[in-house]
Amino acid sequence: MTTPTIQSFHDLGLSAAMLQAVTKAGYAEPTAIQARAIPPAMAGKDVIGCAQTGTGKTAAFTIPMIERLAGGEGPRALILAPTRELAMQIQKTFELLGKARGVYATLIVGGADMAQQERALRQRPDVLVATPGRVLDHMWRGNINLLAVQIFVLDEGDRLLDMGFAPQINQILDALPEERQTMLFSATMPSDVAALAKASLNHPVRIEIAPSGTVAAKAEQHLFHTSRDGKTLLLRRLLKEEPGSTLVFTRTKSRADRLGKLLQADGLPVAVLHGDRTMGQRREALEGFKRGRYRVLVATDIMARGIHVTGIAHVINYDLPNSPEDYVHRIGRTARIEATGRASSFVTPEEKGQLHAIEQLLGTRVPLGKHQLVAG
Ligand code: AMP
Repeated sequence: MTTPTIQSFHDLGLSAAMLQAVTKAGYAEPTAIQARAIPPAMAGKDVIGCAQTGTGKTAAFTIPMIERLAGGEGPRALILAPTRELAMQIQKTFELLGKARGVYATLIVGGADMAQQERALRQRPDVLVATPGRVLDHMWRGNINLLAVQIFVLDEGDRLLDMGFAPQINQILDALPEERQTMLFSATMPSDVAALAKASLNHPVRIEIAPSGTVAAKAEQHLFHTSRDGKTLLLRRLLKEEPGSTLVFTRTKSRADRLGKLLQADGLPVAVLHGDRTMGQRREALEGFKRGRYRVLVATDIMARGIHVTGIAHVINYDLPNSPEDYVHRIGRTARIEATGRASSFVTPEEKGQLHAIEQLLGTRVPLGKHQLVAG
């Protein structure tokens, strides 16, 4: 892997309007993935990027897309994201950076009003940011002509496949023109993602930013050995001792609900976010957490990647995740680009295997926190 020598957005061949937009967005210099992905993407090349959330990957594909799409007309780009929350985040980045060049993105996600999306599509937005199922719904109804797509992006490819979207992605790929630019971003590159890359990309430029695990390096991590019943007591204690907004992860939706109720009964401002909640409830929870109305957000992994809240002080793994990559994603919520945060993980004897996998991925042991073995 070569080290990028580009240190400034001025070296990337961006338009004056885009340079102003990135400055206005507060981006002082390109992140590693931006420095390496923007030049080939602007040249229309296919790109495969192995990078996690928190590395600036969204702007790494939105910036070149905006530059390439400026001045044209009609929907010419499609971005697929695994969750509505992530799609919303991508659309916000277009709002932030695309306005200056007159490039607009519309959200086409499930759970939202169909008629409203049809109206938005009639405005001929330049970019569709979508979840896979809803794109197909619109395609079958004749609201979208995918043959016009010149740029196709798959964001968080691993998560798209984990969530079972392979059939929908294949149908979408069938409807896209052969001649197009395709970019695929994924935090990890398991064999199914590699196969998807092979099927959808043409001589891609490969960019790997850092091996999985490094995003977590900025967070101050601690381990708390406890029992199954000790977890809640430990959580209460940490919430009392450590101020600031706190994101708590549980293994299941029902555990998230139960914990949310318990903390609420303690008088804490808490919201719950998981896949069974309605879109309205999810939005309310995220917005409330973002604005500080809720100090604590209890969430499951599926939702983790859509959470882009700056200033999360503390991530607590009430339950360890089943996949070590999810640990990195969870921790990535706190140690965003420049911020540093705390990450505490509760481990019961039953979770030793998961801990071992995480430490192997990180290549290091997670240090112990100050409270151990709190009894239930
Ligand atoms: P992402 O990895 O796309 O989820 O981006 C993570 C965060 O980094 C977002 O909140 C962006 O606003 C921010 N960001 C993206 N690019 C830059 C940059 N060049 N400098 C500073 N912050 C950035």
